[in-house]
Amino acid sequence: MDCLFCKIINREIPADIVFEDDEIIAFNDISPTAPTHQLIIPKKHVATLNDIDEEDLALIGRLQFTAARLAKQQGFAEDGYRVVMNCNEKGGQTVYHIHMHLLGGRQFTWPAG
Ligand code: 5GP
Ligand code: ZN
Repeated sequence: MDCLFCKIINREIPADIVFEDDEIIAFNDISPTAPTHQLIIPKKHVATLNDIDEEDLALIGRLQFTAARLAKQQGFAEDGYRVVMNCNEKGGQTVYHIHMHLLGGRQFTWPAG
């Protein structure tokens, strides 16, 4: 399958991996938009949020749990951080293997930036 993130999982292309277990891998974003910008992904290939099955619900919870754990380990959990999942073109998704962005280390604003 020609999927960039599956290739990272399979070590076909390099990445700066910060966490891995049987179901999940997390690595630094190649083009960070915050002092910490990591991507937390399931090892199972799921293209978009619209493709999550009932059987994947625990896995999605583990993505969020892993984001919080990484934020705590890196010392910005109490200050605050942002998690983002983009879906399809208008949501800004560019890699079609679901991923949670973990952004920390600066002030974020809402609704933009
Ligand atoms: P999306 O726009 O789909 O929500 O996020 C995709 C993210 O993947 C972007 O933040 C982009 O910088 C990151 N990205 C794209 N290609 C690579 C790569 O080869 N390695 C890593 N580590 N991140 C990548
Ligand atoms: Zn994939």
